[in-house]
Amino acid sequence: MPELPEVETVVRGLREPLVGRTILDVWTDWPNTLRGMPVADFAARAHGQAVRSIHRRAKYIVCTLDHDLLVVHLKMTGRLYVAENDAVVEADRWVHFRAQLDNGQQLRFSDARKFGFVKLAPNLETLAPRLGVEPLEDGFTPAGFSLQLARHRTAIKALLLDQSIVAGVGNIYADEALYLARIHPLRPANSLSEDEAAALHAAIRAVLAEAIEREGASISWYRKPDGSRGEAQRGFAVYGREGEPCLTCGTPIEKIRMAQRGTHFCPNCQRKS
Ligand SMILES: [Zn+2]
Repeated sequence: MPELPEVETVVRGLREPLVGRTILDVWTDWPNTLRGMPVADFAARAHGQAVRSIHRRAKYIVCTLDHDLLVVHLKMTGRLYVAENDAVVEADRWVHFRAQLDNGQQLRFSDARKFGFVKLAPNLETLAPRLGVEPLEDGFTPAGFSLQLARHRTAIKALLLDQSIVAGVGNIYADEALYLARIHPLRPANSLSEDEAAALHAAIRAVLAEAIEREGASISWYRKPDGSRGEAQRGFAVYGREGEPCLTCGTPIEKIRMAQRGTHFCPNCQRKS
């Protein structure tokens, strides 16, 4: 699933073509994409609203319109892009939503597995009431993070995936951050020392910032709005590297299952006790 760096890259790529445009009409061939709003209602409500700004919150793409938010979640296979009305691009094969813009272009949402959505909402809180802190913003502090960890006995990897604690981190960047901080993914969150919590705080920021710099990881479906691939996967130390030597010590990287997710770590650099 696209995580914070991938969603951030999509938002940055859409700002130029989308902000200032007005929505004229919408189309879907898979009504569930709109999560319960009939397409005629969606079109009537969106009609004539301009896109004032676009930003990311956790893994949500949030377009601020005149009177609503247009909120998109890419889930597993979503791609969001702007194309000329008559342009045909590869991702169109799975397109399930189009918004006609006022300049001869369309905002298109392609989603092969159909888990993603496009919603109109008055605010984000009604869609996602309990989102945690944004890890790249000032509100995410080593001290605050350490306090959060002290309140939970859950395995630290599982806690990093909990969007109500830190928003936007998923399976890939949790593994990468734990490796960088040299912390075993199964350690109970409240067993981390203050120094370890500070190291993990810094590692989360470092792996996310680097992945944004590399414009996200195109290991499966994720593509930038222009259709090209991100390069973050080239910087991974553990994710997808099971059996390969640790870049620090040469020990083969291990992969275990945790809550139905693959978890990658170095058993030598990331000791359980
Ligand atoms: Zn190692």
